[in-house]
Amino acid sequence: MAFDRFGRQINYLRISLTDHCNLRCRYCMPEGISFTPNRDCLQDDEVLYFVGLFARLGFSKFRLTGGEPTIRPGVVELVRRIAATPGVRKLTMTSNGLLFAGLAEPLAQAGLQRVNFSLDTLDMEKYRQLTQRDALPQVLAGIHAAEVAGLTPIKLNVVVVRDLNEDDVSELAQLTLRHPWQVRFIELMPFGQTADFQLDQVVSAAEIQARVEARLGRLEAVQPGKLDGEARLFRLPDGLGEIGFISSVTQPFCWDCNRVRLTADGRLRLCLLREDEVDLLTPLRTGATPEELRSLALEAIWRKPWGNRLAEGSVPANRLMSQIGG
Ligand code: SAM
Ligand code: SF4
Repeated sequence: MAFDRFGRQINYLRISLTDHCNLRCRYCMPEGISFTPNRDCLQDDEVLYFVGLFARLGFSKFRLTGGEPTIRPGVVELVRRIAATPGVRKLTMTSNGLLFAGLAEPLAQAGLQRVNFSLDTLDMEKYRQLTQRDALPQVLAGIHAAEVAGLTPIKLNVVVVRDLNEDDVSELAQLTLRHPWQVRFIELMPFGQTADFQLDQVVSAAEIQARVEARLGRLEAVQPGKLDGEARLFRLPDGLGEIGFISSVTQPFCWDCNRVRLTADGRLRLCLLREDEVDLLTPLRTGATPEELRSLALEAIWRKPWGNRLAEGSVPANRLMSQIGG
């Protein structure tokens, strides 16, 4: 099993299958972003190698993300091979949903268990402004297809950005009256060259909750004090689903953190909001033995940081969210 120096057991790996995307969310992909050449990215056998390595270290939960994971060629077959790897017990994905109408059923058949979809507004025009693509109908069809294919419970991630979609939170929260979905509001996190702009646009989870309650009435806490992953959960009195708040900026949940991330170019990223990374792909390609790679991974995990440094004005500058794998 893999532990860090604070005694946290780390057993959850998020893998970025690509840093490319078929949307251009304004808070995620700035103009002129450059992408990693394919030859420098994890190839299918390398992804599978690392899934096996981490599974042997006691990792049981794996999430495929990006960039947009569904645009990776051969993603269904890759999911099938990951799902079949001994030790992989939970296999999930984070997606913008754009291609899910066609992919939900094959991915479910291949062994994908659940999906978190990103959906920041239900307004067609705002969706176009936010993502720079006219794709809301396809995304909603994709979410529906995932539900039909049994990729449930559906979770929706809503990043709330000042002056962009802060007025949309109540309408999104109301989805939980009609659907057994979990709608999770996420604080905007500052990354890379867009950090200054982003810090000004953070809407705290407390403010988001106050906005929802001002419109829809008091929310009831679900399992008070407990987190579901990183979300504090509530529900509307007659709701079928749940409403979550993820306060990575104002109230980080570091004590409960059990995850590390593998970037598309094969670096082990130890904390989303800190720059610490260890290159695993180069050693794999230059002949490191399984034992050497295992030691490299275990030593890196041991050094996993605690806490972000945003309060001291230190933002992670070496990568954007789409390059880390959100
Ligand atoms: N393309 C997929 C999607 O959008 O779901 C997966 C990758 S995306 C980077 C993963 C999640 O990160 C999405 O929910 C997205 O909204 C979120 N995200 C991107 N940039 C962010 C930022 N600066 N702060 C907080 N969340 C962010
Ligand atoms: Fe693409 Fe997801 Fe980033 Fe939007 S948030 S640009 S969908 S990677």
